[in-house]
Amino acid sequence: GKLRVGLIFGGRSGEHEVSLRSARAVIQALDGERYEVIPIAIAKDGRWLPPAESWRMLPSASIPSTPHSSPERDAVTIIGDLNWQGLVHLGEDGTRVERLDVVFPVLHGTYGEDGTIQGLLEMANIPYVGCGVLASACGMDKVAMKSLFRAVGLPICRYLWFLRAEWETKPSEVIKRIEHEIGFPCFVKPANLGSSVGVTRATDRASLEAALTEAALYDRKIVVEEALDVREIECAVLGNEDPQASLPGEYVVLDRRAEFLDYTEKYGQTGHVEFVTPAPVAAELVREIQQMACRAFRAIDGAGLARVDFFLRRDTDELLINEINTMPGLTDVSGYPKMWAASGLDFPQLLDRLIELALERHRDKA
Ligand code: ADP
Ligand code: MG
Ligand code: MG
Repeated sequence: GKLRVGLIFGGRSGEHEVSLRSARAVIQALDGERYEVIPIAIAKDGRWLPPAESWRMLPSASIPSTPHSSPERDAVTIIGDLNWQGLVHLGEDGTRVERLDVVFPVLHGTYGEDGTIQGLLEMANIPYVGCGVLASACGMDKVAMKSLFRAVGLPICRYLWFLRAEWETKPSEVIKRIEHEIGFPCFVKPANLGSSVGVTRATDRASLEAALTEAALYDRKIVVEEALDVREIECAVLGNEDPQASLPGEYVVLDRRAEFLDYTEKYGQTGHVEFVTPAPVAAELVREIQQMACRAFRAIDGAGLARVDFFLRRDTDELLINEINTMPGLTDVSGYPKMWAASGLDFPQLLDRLIELALERHRDKA
């Protein structure tokens, strides 16, 4: 029979829309001969939707004319989901209980990429694609992530962090600390987010204050970094105990109006930036990037997949790690699948491998 893949997408995070686009791409590329896809959308308000409603959440072009999931299953209600033996579906008659063979949580950001859904799936004893609880949580939190990178000696940029409560109660102290330890220009970011949501570049005290207010809307923890003049290079990692790194890719800026890779530049296809694979860098640097990517993956105890994002300083040629993303975008414009395609693994093959790795990891844990 076919492998029953529960595809969870949407979610409560600021990256809800990106997740829908990733899910669409995954559904279109999953081999219908091998997999039966059961779509499980999570609405922005956190409600888990049954399959028929879940299909409707996806951008229209994505609904397959012949859904992998059989029509009568559209009437099936997801209960919830946990019977401590697996994520299950309950039939209309309330009796049929079906187990999913594997879950693919195509969720980005909080409540999805941060270990929460992974914890739920661990409790349910069901195999799932991607990193486990610890790696997901550490990859999501930029402060925890930086601490782990620093602990294993991976180079990162200068930064500091503080709580929103500190900013709200002692704003002048926070500003003073930033001006003293980091200076301008600097980047202000919510600690737990992605797709550049809430990220701002500040150049003076006024823009810093605005940036802090903005970041504080999204998170109770805020990170400030020195703003560097960089090339942005990424590397895709795939595997469990013996992870492999792809050829790197690079976001090449075609138009200086793209100050940095904000949400619009990443997903809006403005034409200001272009993702180029392989990145036009020397062979020696490629090896260094790949080694560092695997070390970053190990530092957080990654599994399945992750995308490691680098800064290559234009002034010193120094290679720094910016971040690791444990559920990188899988949309048609995303870097992760493009880097594997450039390395000889097309998207359907990549998805096969990710599902294999999920099953392998589940067996290893037993
Ligand atoms: P996210 O997790 O939301 O992708 P990032 O830390 O990657 O957050 O920041 C988003 C973008 O902001 C980066 O891709 C880069 O363009 C820019 N950026 C972030 N930090 C710096 C920095 N320290 N120096 C220069 N550019 C930065
Ligand atoms: Mg990120
Ligand atoms: Mg990023």
